[in-house]
Amino acid sequence: MENRLMIYNTLTRKKELFEPLHAPNVGLYVCGPTVYGDAHLGHARPAITFDVLFRYLTNIGYKVRYVRNITDVGHLEHDADEGEDKIAKKARLEQLEPMEVVQHYTLRYHKAMEALNVLPPSIEPHASGHIIEQIELVKEILDNGYAYESEGSVYFDVAKYDKDHKYGVLSGRNLDDVLNTTRELDGQNEKRNPADFALWKCAQPQHIMRWPSPWSDGFPGWHCECTAMGRKYLGAEFDIHGGGMDLIFPHHECEIAQGVAAMGHSVVKYWMHNNMITINGQKMGKSYNNFINLAEFFTGSHPLLQQAYSPMTIRFFILQAHYRSTVDFGNEALQAAEKGLQRLMDAWSTLGTIVPANDTTVDVSSLRAKCYDAMNDDLNTAQVISHLFDASRAINQLADKKATISATDLDELKEVFSMFTFDILGLKEERGSGSAREEAFGKVVDMLLEQRQAAKAAKDWATSDKIRNELQALGFEIKDGKEGATWKLNK
Ligand SMILES: [Zn+2]
Repeated sequence: MENRLMIYNTLTRKKELFEPLHAPNVGLYVCGPTVYGDAHLGHARPAITFDVLFRYLTNIGYKVRYVRNITDVGHLEHDADEGEDKIAKKARLEQLEPMEVVQHYTLRYHKAMEALNVLPPSIEPHASGHIIEQIELVKEILDNGYAYESEGSVYFDVAKYDKDHKYGVLSGRNLDDVLNTTRELDGQNEKRNPADFALWKCAQPQHIMRWPSPWSDGFPGWHCECTAMGRKYLGAEFDIHGGGMDLIFPHHECEIAQGVAAMGHSVVKYWMHNNMITINGQKMGKSYNNFINLAEFFTGSHPLLQQAYSPMTIRFFILQAHYRSTVDFGNEALQAAEKGLQRLMDAWSTLGTIVPANDTTVDVSSLRAKCYDAMNDDLNTAQVISHLFDASRAINQLADKKATISATDLDELKEVFSMFTFDILGLKEERGSGSAREEAFGKVVDMLLEQRQAAKAAKDWATSDKIRNELQALGFEIKDGKEGATWKLNK
């Protein structure tokens, strides 16, 4: 396997040649959703970005174990150490068991991901299913002297860690920056230093999500789950950890510190982060009133949307930008993406009708190399799409008989076009929904029955019998009544 994949490592701030620790195996960990609400664009982008990475690594011959977790405990409001657990709050407001909330939104998340043609990961561990592993991690950090117990909670000692190692290597923040931006909140008097973060939290009496531990009945700090589950499924050192840029600080910074504090060495070789999404130039957020979830995009049921946008339009739109660039969602841009995707799909179906000739007058031989070069350049899907558009133009020239292609080149073009469009970018052809198609076919039967009626009126019995007999042979039951004929399909 020729290895030329360069990926941008947030840790070193440069593109590096991807060299797995244990080729051909690759370990990939991506932070999954906190399941207390419907999936939105902020979920779609990392899911699609790392789905393409998963597909591409597999395409170039690696055996990938892809772990994407479900956060169902310990993620408190404002990503802080104080405040209510996001799941527990939703459960309280809706008078449900927290695990009912988790189950409901996990299923809905899976449905949205399936619609976006995001492949399921190899393992999808739940934080609540790995409390023992998280308690073990906290014990190790305590034993190594990088944490302390306070009022039944355990906090990571950031100042101590910073002295021996260096805190802030991923985000580029130093301890002073962190201190200046840390808000004073209730309970911070339990901490020696406001920059310290919770590894284990003692549960307040009203807190229902709680587990026994050596320190208190409580729950793990948010950052523990990814360190504990990453190690369990991918080992003490693994290749790639990914997520949205918003997770760089504090989540991933804290993960790095926890890993080093527990194991004495860094855990992750390459850190990858996708950029964020804006809507009409504005940050997406509940307070901006522009919070559109994926189901609303698919049905067009949000005041900011002029129409419905299919899951593949959303996927195509996201892939038209490099994953490290921002993406701005607006109706015009989405409509352009819809047209672009259609052009690509039309070219694919046209390709099936091309008849080979003796020689080739279009330049398709370099398509494979160009698409691989683009993917190897830090997953430049935007560039791949532009090469596929060039290929689409060539396909249209062939269909218009303005160019010719040999049988060998035609096979190559079909293979490369399909591999990049469907297998690597993960696009798929979308057809109308089942009910819309049924309705259209039903109208065709109505039309035939109207023609039979006209034949009867003209006393053309041969035609009228022919239509009835052929429809019956296909399984249609035809009933003649005063109001004309009706039909039903007995299949
Ligand atoms: Zn995480």
